Amino acid sequence: MNIEGTLCKLCQKNDDLRTSHVLPRFLGKYLKETSATGFLTAVDENGKPSRSQDLYKRELLCDQCETVLNEAETFFAASIFHPFKKNQLKTIPVDERLGRFAVSVSLRALWMMQLIKHPLAERWKGQLDELETEWRNYLLKKHNFVKGNHSHHILLCNEAILAVGLKNSPNLIHSVLRTSAYYLFEKFDKAYVFANLAGVQIISMISPPELPVSQGTEVYPNQTFGVVTPPGIGWGGYFQNLLELARKCDDARSRLSVTQREMIKRSMNKDPEKAAMSEDGLIYRMQQELLQSIQEVLTERKELT
Ligand SMILES: [Zn+2]
Repeated sequence: MNIEGTLCKLCQKNDDLRTSHVLPRFLGKYLKETSATGFLTAVDENGKPSRSQDLYKRELLCDQCETVLNEAETFFAASIFHPFKKNQLKTIPVDERLGRFAVSVSLRALWMMQLIKHPLAERWKGQLDELETEWRNYLLKKHNFVKGNHSHHILLCNEAILAVGLKNSPNLIHSVLRTSAYYLFEKFDKAYVFANLAGVQIISMISPPELPVSQGTEVYPNQTFGVVTPPGIGWGGYFQNLLELARKCDDARSRLSVTQREMIKRSMNKDPEKAAMSEDGLIYRMQQELLQSIQEVLTERKELT
């Protein structure tokens, strides 16, 4: 039994908890392997950045429940995440595990938002409590379980999609593709649980139950993800919300200590080739190129008028 006597967040039975990754494990591994420094920056629940070798951990789940979530995570990582990141994603399988993955990510996001007492978690408490019960019963494959009608979506975000928002925030691409964050959003009468996993995003509706203009992205209760092309993305508020997230990531990064920044700089100097070939380096260059082309377009327009 743990010191606080707290129960596993999923089964609510066992109190023999293990330290769980707050974000899926494959994500930490991916960010670490593709970063310039071999380290990554995680933002803790108080919004403070810490340079760690691993993603933020805390005691959340028992062994059994950790295994339940791992099954869907491993499937998602192998069949969608890594192929997408390597530009090798050809087909998307129609598979229940994609829905289970999205639900499990949003459930963790919800727990974190409850923990930090996010204002929207308090405001939507009634609805979120109901959703939490549904998501938990779904993952635990409870007898007589019936799926609800609140939809879950997976968006595969790349630089082309993000470039639309870049003119408003030069750091947007880096912030979205290189960070992971959980959040709650409410804008234009839509409230949803949000997770950004290095550009792969999970959206779980709080209100209304369904997300308009999102064809080809749903994984729960039905799967249209990969079945409908082209997928719908970019409904009202989506980019505004991403910009808000990007600003928060920038704020967190600017709070990095001088020592932490020095360490990143040193590794750039020590092994510039590795740093340049890393995902961080590639995205940095992409960002510079995009900025340049936007500036060229703006100059052209100025010359015309
Ligand atoms: Zn459990």
